[in-house]
Amino acid sequence: MLLSEVGYARPSSVDEAVRLLAENDGARPLAGGQTIVNVMKARAAAPDVLVDLADLAELRTIAVSDEGALELGALATYSELITSAEVKETRPIVAEVAAQIADVQVRNRGTVGGNVCSNDPTNHLPPVFVAVGAAMTIVGADGERTVPAEEFFLGVYMTAAGPGELLTKVVVPPAGESRDGFSAVTIGADGTCIVSAAATVTGDQARIVLGCVAATPVLLTAAADAEAVREAVRGAELDPPSDVHGPAEYRRQLAEVVAARAVAAAGEGH
Ligand SMILES: Cc1cc2nc3c(=O)[nH]c(=O)nc-3n(C[C@H](O)[C@H](O)[C@H](O)COP(=O)(O)OP(=O)(O)OC[C@H]3O[C@@H](n4cnc5c(N)ncnc54)[C@H](O)[C@@H]3O)c2cc1C
Repeated sequence: MLLSEVGYARPSSVDEAVRLLAENDGARPLAGGQTIVNVMKARAAAPDVLVDLADLAELRTIAVSDEGALELGALATYSELITSAEVKETRPIVAEVAAQIADVQVRNRGTVGGNVCSNDPTNHLPPVFVAVGAAMTIVGADGERTVPAEEFFLGVYMTAAGPGELLTKVVVPPAGESRDGFSAVTIGADGTCIVSAAATVTGDQARIVLGCVAATPVLLTAAADAEAVREAVRGAELDPPSDVHGPAEYRRQLAEVVAARAVAAAGEGH
């Protein structure tokens, strides 16, 4: 059998989804299914119940708040980010990076919420949301709370949205005077990141966030010039994993390169 037996529920409201998740320790949200179904097929996880979020239209919206912040519903797909006028106007880096994720099938199914809640260290969006200073809205049995992106990622596949909770939206502040950039070295075109970096530059200061070099995104700050950025990366004494795609030392060197490129990309526009 492709999948082990699993229960299935399809709530029609966020409250009902949270109740279903709270009722059963082994219940997990199902968004685009691009990670969780593969993990289940590989028998690496065996949820008791999948709580399918597909009918929660209120989590699918992309809007700009009165304060000019970009509000991304957790169920917004990468394809919706890429074609959204609101994203393009407010924080185009989100669309540019979403367009680099995998292939069109994955982009049509994969969601903002699934990308950050799986917190695979190779995923594209976690470093971007930390760099831009996004805030994550989480709903659970005790109500709603907001967690800054830099405190949201706790470990591989672990985030501040714990069992029984749902990430409902990601709020990205308006760019103002800041400019954003992203750079990654990937396995083939649009492939999995080997090392990635997102940067937000404000004045002469850069906020740089590295992906794939630790269990969670690594945030650094530096003056926005290449040598200062490289020095900040060296100073972080990264201890990245060694794997089939490259040894730790290679990733340490790539981290300097992509961090400097992300800052340079921020200087070129957005
Ligand atoms: C071939 C392939 C290549 C890929 N390459 C890349 C890549 O290069 N870069 C990249 O970033 N990603 C890549 N991905 C992963 C893809 O982006 C996934 O879509 C994403 O990681 C998970 O999103 P999803 O909506 O499919 O979530 P799902 O698989 O449905 O869920 C993922 C996890 O998040 C939880 N979850 C989902 N939504 C919520 C929520 N709102 N609140 C709380 N928990 C939630 C689920 O319970 C589950 O544990 C790839 C996937 C495939 C199949």
